[in-house]
Order: sequence, then C-alpha cells, then structure tokens
Amino acid sequence: MGDSQVFTSVKSLQKRLHTDRKNSSIGLFPTMGALHHGHIALVKQAMEENDVVVVSIFVNPTQFNNPDDLEKYPRMLEKDIELLNEVGDVIVFAPDVEAVYPDDFEKLNIDLGKLGETMEGEFRPGHFDGVMNVVKRFFDIVKPNRAYFGMKDYQQAAVIKHMVKETNDPVEVVVCDIVREETGLASSSRNVRLSEKQKEEALIISQTLNFLKSIAGKYLPIEACGKAKQFFKDGKLELEYLETIHPVTLKRLETKWVPGAHACIVAYSGEVRLLDNIQLIPFVEK
Ligand code: AMP
Repeated sequence: MGDSQVFTSVKSLQKRLHTDRKNSSIGLFPTMGALHHGHIALVKQAMEENDVVVVSIFVNPTQFNNPDDLEKYPRMLEKDIELLNEVGDVIVFAPDVEAVYPDDFEKLNIDLGKLGETMEGEFRPGHFDGVMNVVKRFFDIVKPNRAYFGMKDYQQAAVIKHMVKETNDPVEVVVCDIVREETGLASSSRNVRLSEKQKEEALIISQTLNFLKSIAGKYLPIEACGKAKQFFKDGKLELEYLETIHPVTLKRLETKWVPGAHACIVAYSGEVRLLDNIQLIPFVEK
C-alpha cells in the first residue's frame, strides 16, 4: 500500500522533483484520470523502469473539440489516488487549468503533416494541437527521463514521437501495449459511460479488428478494409472510421501491404466515442 503525494502547483512539484532528480530517473505518465487497470499496467511498467514516477491527472480542455464530451468526461481524483496507492508510491500531479496554461503560456506550433491530417486529425480538428501542447507543458514542468503512452492511442503516440524529434526534448518515449477487458474490449475511461448491454455491443470493435487481421494478406488492404466494414455492420454501433495504415507514416494502405501494417477504428456507442487498433501484419526481422 503506497502513500502517493499529491501536488497541484507547478512550483511545489518542481521543488519536490529537484531533490529526486540528482540520483534518480524520473518517469512521467500523463493521463486524464478516471484510471482503470489499463492505466495501472502503465504505472507499474513506469515504476519498474524509473526511481520516481509522476502520474499527471488533468482533463485537458484544449484537446476536446466537443464541449459535451469535455463536460461528461469522468472525473474521480479521490478514487484515482486510492487506486494508485494500491500500486505503491507515486507522485500525483493534478493541476488546475490556470496552472497548466498561465497567462504567459507560449503555444508550440509544429507541423504534423500527414500525421495530423488523417483519422483523429480529420474527425477531431485541433485535438492533436491540444495534446501536443499539454504533453510538452508537462515535459517542461517535470523534465522526465522517460514518458509513458499507451498503444491504445496509436496516432497520439506517433504524434508525440514526432514532437519529441522536432523539439529535441531529451526524453525517451515508451509506448505500452493495449490493455483489454477479458471480453476483448479495450479498457477506457469512457467505458464507465456504457451500460452492460452497450459494453457487450461494443465488442464488435475488437471483433472487427480481429476479423480484419484474419483476412489481411488474403486481400488487398482496400478490399480487406471493405469486408471488415461490412462485418462491423452486423453490430449496433456507428462507425466513424476504419483505416488500414502504414505503421509509421499512418498513410492509408490501399493496394499494397507493408510490414507492421496497422488498422485503427473509431465507433460510437450512443454518444460514447470508442477507439481501438491492431497490428495486422508483423514486422519482419532483418
Ligand atoms: P487517457 O487518460 O485516457 O488520456 O490515457 C492516458 C494514457 O493511458 C494514454 O497514453 C493512453 O493511450 C493510455 N491508455 C489508456 N487506456 C489504455 C489501455 N487500455 N491500454 C494501454 N494504454 C492505455
């Protein structure tokens, strides 16, 4: 049982980290809270790989393009801290909006090119701008040696890696596997907004990805994707997008598979937006 220290001000957090920094490695795990066992797996990995772990809990308004989604985003700091205490001692950074975006906040402008145009970039304009800026702000505050992100947000991880390259931040970006419920549903903070029936219906998402994986290679990407969209239609959810993509450039694959080819999907169950992804083709060993 841990006893996590909670900081809300940048100054007090930095004061605490100043002492740690001398002989210790610092791992940062940025989250928006409403923690679940998927998050906890990342916290455990960060604890194994670093002497000190900072978990930031901040529902970042600038990455929401839908005010209703922002308002309904689950917030449960007390419960989050309890959950983190079950894992051990971490430092919780739970600032308010003013602390993250002071009056003299300077916005980072990085051209994401294709990375920012497809999928989330297309359906959530401004989203990655918000994500990049908040992550950069936390990097500047915490100055971590490593920062942890989930493969669950595949495009986000690609954007962060790009940002780190562009800014030359001396931080190692660690991308961790997707954690799923036993049913196959990707664990998500948004799942608390689903009824049991909706959770069952949402299984069509991972089933569609698995179906697509099972036929990848037998068809051209565009054909396989079309068949998977047909498969998805047997379910009750509304599809926003399903794409077969290049694992690094994220460009849509249509007529040729590449090693590491990936699929990303977003679908709505009622008003709840759910996303998932899967690797379709393994990377070949050189
Ligand atoms: P969130 O609080 O939902 O923004 O997530 C914070 C971080 O945890 C992001 O890097 C997510 O990709 C990661 N994450 C969330 N859910 C999962 C999951 N089921 N498996 C792995 N990583 C996750």
